[in-house]
Parts: sequence; C-alpha cells; structure tokens
Amino acid sequence: KLNAMIVTINPATEEVLADYPVMSQGDVEAVLHQAEQDFIQWKSVPFEVRRNLMVRLGALLRDEKEQHAALISREMGKPLSQAAAEVLKCALICDFYAEHAEAFLQPEEIAVDGSRGMVTFEPLGLLLGVMPWNFPFWQVFRFAVPAVMAGNGVIMKHAPNVTGSAIAIEDLFRRAGFPPHLYRTMHIAFEEVDRLTGFMIAHPSIRAVSLTGSTAAGMAVAEKAGRALKRSVMELGGNDPYLVLDDADLEAAVTVCAASRLLNSGQSCIAAKRFIVHTRVKDRFEALLVARMKGAKMGDPFDPETEVGPMARGDLRDQLHHQVEQSVRDGAQLLCGGVMPEGKGYFYPPTVLSGITKSMAVYGEETFGPVAAIIEAADDAEMVRIANDSPYGLGSAVFSADITRALAIARQLETGNCYINAMVKSDPRLPFGGVKQSGYGRELSSYGIKEFVNIKTLCF
Ligand code: NAP
Repeated sequence: KLNAMIVTINPATEEVLADYPVMSQGDVEAVLHQAEQDFIQWKSVPFEVRRNLMVRLGALLRDEKEQHAALISREMGKPLSQAAAEVLKCALICDFYAEHAEAFLQPEEIAVDGSRGMVTFEPLGLLLGVMPWNFPFWQVFRFAVPAVMAGNGVIMKHAPNVTGSAIAIEDLFRRAGFPPHLYRTMHIAFEEVDRLTGFMIAHPSIRAVSLTGSTAAGMAVAEKAGRALKRSVMELGGNDPYLVLDDADLEAAVTVCAASRLLNSGQSCIAAKRFIVHTRVKDRFEALLVARMKGAKMGDPFDPETEVGPMARGDLRDQLHHQVEQSVRDGAQLLCGGVMPEGKGYFYPPTVLSGITKSMAVYGEETFGPVAAIIEAADDAEMVRIANDSPYGLGSAVFSADITRALAIARQLETGNCYINAMVKSDPRLPFGGVKQSGYGRELSSYGIKEFVNIKTLCF
C-alpha cells in the first residue's frame, strides 16, 4: 500500500515536524493542465511586467528572511546564519535576472547573403525541476528564476524532507503576483517518484527537465528525458579536488579548504572533498587542517556558535560513516573525528583522513558530510593526474603564490570550474555546471537562461 503522507523530520532532534498528503496521477495531470493555461498567458507578458514581479519576489524574500531561514534549518539542519545567507542569495538572483534577462534574450541579427537573419529566444513551455534538499531554496531559485524570466512555467518535484520549503517557495511566487499556477510544486510518494516523474517527463505539457542531485538520480531522469526526446540539464555530484602547491600560503589555504569542506555541514556538491597536497607541505597542511576541523563547533543549528549542524537524514549519516570506516579498514589514517556521537540528532563530527590511496572509498566516491581526505603528491603533474582520476568533474581549486603556475594547472583540470586561492561557489554572473558524471548543461549567467529557450532562426 502506498504511503499517503510525506513526513518531515527535524534532523537535529529526530522529532516529526509535519506531514503532507501526496498527489495521485490524476492530481498531477490536473496541476499540469492548470500550469499550462497560465504558461500560455505568461509567455507573451512583456519583460517589464516579468521584471517587476521578480523584483517583488526578491523583496519578499528579504522581508521574510528570518522565517524562511528558520524553516530551512528546521527541515535540513544547516546552521541558521547559513540558511539566512541562502535566502538572501535567492533575493540576489531575482534582482540579477530581473535586471539582465531582457538583455540576455535580445534578438540577434546576422546578415546572410543579402537577406536578414534573426535569432530570437522563445520560451519552451513547462519545465520540470527535480531538486535536492541541501540548499532547499537556492537550488530551486537558481533554476526557476531564469526559467520564468525567459517566459516558461515551472513544475517542481522537490526532495520530500524539505516539503515545507517547497510549499513556502510556491507561496512566495504566488504572493509576488505571478499567475497562480505558473510555478507549482508536486508532492509525490516515495514509492511513486520514479514512475510519476517518468509520467511527467513523457507528458506533452512538459518540454524539458532540470535535475540537481546525485549522479544516480541524474541517470534515472536523463534516461527518461532521452526516451521522450526532451532537453535536460543535469547538475550532479562531485568529488572536488583542492590542489595545494608547495609555494601556497598554507594558513590562508587551510582557512579556505576547511570553510569549503564544512559549509552546509559538508553537504554541498561543490564542497572541497579531496585535498591533493604537495609532499613538501603535506605535514604542515595536515596539522593546520586538523586543528581547524577540531575547532569547528558542532551542535544545534539555532545556536549562533554552531558551525556544523546535523546531517540531513539518518541514512545519509550512516552512508558517510560507512565510507570513513571502509577507508580506515583499507589503511587510511584517521587524524580526527570518525566516531558517531551518541544521543539524538544525525550529527557527524568534522573528520580528517590522510594517506589516502586509490583503493579507498573516499578517493573515488563523493563524501556528503564534513570528511576531508588528504592525498599526497610529488609534483604538479602528479597532482593533475590524481585530480582528474575521478568519474566526477564539477569544481576544483588550486592554491599557489604563482598565478601563472596555478592557471596552467587550472586549464588541465577536467572540471566545470576552477578557483585559484579561493573556494568554489556559484555566482549568478558566472556559468555553473559540471563535466563527466557531474552532469551537463549550465545554470546561471547568460548561458543558464539560454538552456531552456527555443533558439529560433528567422530569415527574411
Ligand atoms: P538525490 O537523492 O539524488 O535526490 C535529488 C532529487 O532527485 C530528489 O528530489 C529526489 O527525490 C530525486 N530523485 C531521486 N531519484 C529519482 C528518480 N529515479 N526519479 C525522479 N527523481 C528522483 O540527491 P540528494 O541526496 O537529495 O542530494 C545530494 C546529491 O546532490 C549529491 O550527490 C550532490 O553532490 C548533488 N548536488 C549537486 C549539485 C550541483 O549543482 N551539481 C548541487 C547540489 C547537490 P526523492 O528523494 O523523492 O527520491
């Protein structure tokens, strides 16, 4: 028998937060029909009107920052200050595309053999978003804001543990003044996710799909999109290498490396995961990183001192611990952490593993929590080889006092982005995405808004 409810749980206390009724296939179809009606009206709404509504959405987010931040922290456990920063970043992307969408989508003129060629960027229709819980607002806004500014409608299948956030976002779009069904969220029972997502992707009203999540989920959804010949963008997992060269400012590098590993309690696709460190500086890097990780306070996400909250779900914590145990069994040195705390809440301590080699779990697999893996390398060429020895290719960073040397390395890394002496982040002004099993397509900037448009050629 199907679960009739989605139940959300506070990961810091393991208490039930709320339950929500799930939708049947008939409910899903009815929503798609309503949303399509609103899209038909929305696609010819002028940019000026779209812009004003988007600015209002950003203003609502700013006004209600506290309430949304608290909801995020309750549902998935990130420290409250980070949840508030996430809400503000969503307001920023509303402003960004409100200001730039029209210019990004300006028709282009191309002269062809005496006649005029023109390229226009038309909306596609309803887009399906499949989103994860780790940045429950930001991942959604990053996809939905440019989609809507380009004239599309959005159907959202969010992660069930953040259903309260999913509903809050739908409500925000409505209260900002967008047509009531232009942005709709679907509540799907766990057992029905695969089938009903497939149903939506195959449905003629859905024109494309964007998924942010694990590589396994990406494969399942991309396969369905391929079968239905629908365009897709895949923002998937990562095992980001941070390369620390022998001339790096080590104190500064460790500050950035630890911040990137601990952000969102380690549950970020672009968190630093593998630290590939030059032999000459490995011991000092190790000591500094261990001190920094040990000093990070773990606890209640609502305590302003907390730097690391709980993992979002119990099964995810178990999986992380399993990867650590397996690596230690295979010879990794456990320098700190690695012990599951007792008591309520899915907490996992900041952990550093060193002496990592290819056969160990943390070398090849993504770790979605505060676990740092240190890999030693003899020179620049070996660092690049190890960095690229991964099925993933999302983010990367290089630390060096010599920008020319760092850039030469950056150009060789098989990743969607590389930061020098800084942590990888997503910025509305810059394209964001991965290669290899980290996915394809780009979000943000002018590249992101052009993923879900009909690039139409007119010749006259
Ligand atoms: P997940 O388990 O893959 O879930 C992501 C979303 O996909 C959820 O809404 C999930 O719904 C859905 N999903 C899973 N299998 C599906 C299927 N067969 N059909 C349709 N939908 C399906 O990932 P997560 O644990 O929430 O998030 C962590 C992962 O996301 C990590 O690997 C991380 O690196 C990646 N991530 C990537 C980016 C990026 O920008 N590249 C950003 C953030 C996170 P259900 O939970 O209902 O199954």
